[in-house]
Amino acid sequence: MATSTTITPVLVAELLAEGERMPVYVHVIDHPDGRVLVDTGMTQLHPAVADMDPRLTPLGAQADFDLDSIDVVVNTHLHFDHCGGNHLFAGRPIYVQRSELDDARSLDDYTIREWVDAPGVEYVPLDGARELLPGIRLVPTPGHTRGSQVVVVETGAGAVVIAGDTAVFFAELDEPRTEGQRLVRALDPAVVWLSHEHEPWRPDVDEDR
Ligand SMILES: [Zn+2]
Repeated sequence: MATSTTITPVLVAELLAEGERMPVYVHVIDHPDGRVLVDTGMTQLHPAVADMDPRLTPLGAQADFDLDSIDVVVNTHLHFDHCGGNHLFAGRPIYVQRSELDDARSLDDYTIREWVDAPGVEYVPLDGARELLPGIRLVPTPGHTRGSQVVVVETGAGAVVIAGDTAVFFAELDEPRTEGQRLVRALDPAVVWLSHEHEPWRPDVDEDR
């Protein structure tokens, strides 16, 4: 069964960060028991992030993306570029670590709070690891934020990790520094998808360098 699970990156925005265009990806997991969306990107502009000059291709405006087909949503964390489309999935369960939700609701300058608690958005707060579907696990990976989590997908080709910003750059997996980055490496993944890289990180890429 696990061999039929596939993962598809979807580009939803580009942000300007330190003079460079940084992509923002979300990821769709097609599993025999359901369709999972990991992170939701952004759907609109906001004065708080105008300096990042967002260029948006939001999920709701992509002709080949069917919002209704998504059964379950996961937020790796609740920074604005990862939860801005949560409102598109009002009424569907959105899995997030409880500590992440607490921080997003209470800390200043953490995120765009009205995007976190948009009308109709319903979170399923987690206190640790959880099996979402057979062969799909949510695993806390503190570092980028206290409440960050990754999605671990067992496939016929090994474990695939959808890591959000647990690592923003490949170098952070080549030489892990945070608890979360070390946890991802300890999973011995075949592939790690990051939110802000076009291609996935692979361990053998590192060894070939
Ligand atoms: Zn991000």
